[in-house]
Amino acid sequence: MKIGVLAVQGDVREHLNALERLGVAAVPVLKPGDLAGLEGIVLPGGESTAMWRLMRASGLAEALKAELKKGLPAFGTCAGMILLAKEITNWPERFLAVMDIAVERNATGRQVDSFETRLSLNGLGEVPAVFIRAPLVHRVGPEVEVLATWDERPVMVRQGPLLAASFHPELTEDTRVHEFFLSICRKE
Ligand code: GLN
Repeated sequence: MKIGVLAVQGDVREHLNALERLGVAAVPVLKPGDLAGLEGIVLPGGESTAMWRLMRASGLAEALKAELKKGLPAFGTCAGMILLAKEITNWPERFLAVMDIAVERNATGRQVDSFETRLSLNGLGEVPAVFIRAPLVHRVGPEVEVLATWDERPVMVRQGPLLAASFHPELTEDTRVHEFFLSICRKE
């Protein structure tokens, strides 16, 4: 199975490593041609505005949006969740805008306010979760399933083949969240 990691900016290497540890072919995605043959794509943490600017410049933004609309599974972490959201409550732009959630950017505060906690994920048990200037979800559409909450707010959500997390599973040794995404890619 071939899974891409959006590689224009952000914590790309950590996601590639997590996927490789699970035995899949993980490839960096920088330009539209890199989308060919993918069975899923990870959108990493980083800076959503910078990622979007770079994706627009190469034509990757439009090409990826078209693939997502055709059903390509995607997993967005942190900035990646912001890229997927249809609504951003405190920012004038929308990016890929394919997932029916409203998010607030930088809702957990500044870099120095970063923290690690444990979250109970629906069906997966407890996992370690690192939050860094994380988005929080303010609204989920009727087709969106909430898989985890923190402080009574959704922090991991799924809408069919789209999965998004406010936190960074790629920064811990625990690969269960990536494994869960791979099960979505395999349509299990
Ligand atoms: N604050 C970043 C953004 O808005 C996301 C932070 C992160 O990915 N760690 O894009």
